[in-house]
Amino acid sequence: MSVLLREQIVAACKRLESSGLNRGTSGNVSCRENDHFLITPTGVPVEEITPSKIVAVGFDGKVNGIGKPSSEWQFHCDILQARPEIHAVVHTHAPHATALACLRENIPPFHYMIALAGGDTIRCAPYALFGTGELSRNAVDALADRKACLLANHGMITLGRDLDEAMAVAIEVESLCQQYLLARQVGQPALLSDDEMRQVIDRFKTYGRNAADTTKQ
Ligand SMILES: [Zn+2]
Repeated sequence: MSVLLREQIVAACKRLESSGLNRGTSGNVSCRENDHFLITPTGVPVEEITPSKIVAVGFDGKVNGIGKPSSEWQFHCDILQARPEIHAVVHTHAPHATALACLRENIPPFHYMIALAGGDTIRCAPYALFGTGELSRNAVDALADRKACLLANHGMITLGRDLDEAMAVAIEVESLCQQYLLARQVGQPALLSDDEMRQVIDRFKTYGRNAADTTKQ
């Protein structure tokens, strides 16, 4: 059992709260650890989350040890299984991302940083009831070749090779959603072309940067 990984998850929860990306008990964070994953518990306010309250869950959905995992453990489990290169998943109801998710629209390439999520859009997964296998399937599909998606009438999910990257993508996606909302209030934003977005995606790859580095430029 990695105490360090549990501490990192607790720190991420506090950061989501302090940066305004999450409020109350709605968000959840998970990290792959060997043959299972660690995930935040259900219904515990962030100020009460401690490393020992983080729950270990097998990829068969069975809890290893004690605790009750987040009600959204299913999509964390399915995403980590579907995407072997991904080791951390962050889910929040961040206000600007959630506002856009209620429009049930993909976020188009209005800004080059959209490429941080892995492509020329951030998709919005179709609505399904929270905590269900249907929501999980919709999320896995919307995340194909991407590190972020919106969940219709719900919130957003971001992924990373590690927790730092998943957090950096979450912060950037919320920022992009705020910018897109602002632009949409005064007009229809001009969109970057396929070629322009391809150049950005190539540039990100060429630099060999991870998302955490890219957001510092
Ligand atoms: Zn949620």
